[in-house]
Amino acid sequence: MMTTSTFPTKISRPKPYLLSIEWSDGVTTTITLRTFRDECPCAACKGETIMGTTYSFGMQVMTPGKYELSSIQAVGNYAIQADWKDGHNTGLYSWDILRRITDDFALSSQQREEIERQAANEGLA
Ligand SMILES: [Zn+2]
Repeated sequence: MMTTSTFPTKISRPKPYLLSIEWSDGVTTTITLRTFRDECPCAACKGETIMGTTYSFGMQVMTPGKYELSSIQAVGNYAIQADWKDGHNTGLYSWDILRRITDDFALSSQQREEIERQAANEGLA
């Protein structure tokens, strides 16, 4: 049986384009906001399974504010909801989903250095 044994103890944004999550088991993972948005679990982004076929309605176009976060809100004690600056706010990230995303896409310290260097070059932060 699947049980949710870990949950975030702290969620922070060390940079405007990074999301860091500290987990109850002591693991800290950092991902980019771009990954966080690209992995949005809502039906519009991930497609809906109808009669066994997955249809994707996700738009591939780059909309302004797509990768900019307005806020993150806690939903009960089992998920967070992301509010993006392009108006998208239907993504509900349960702890299980969030843990999977952060495990799959966690930045190594080398990757993070590279991203921070690029951002500095672009004058982002
Ligand atoms: Zn979505």
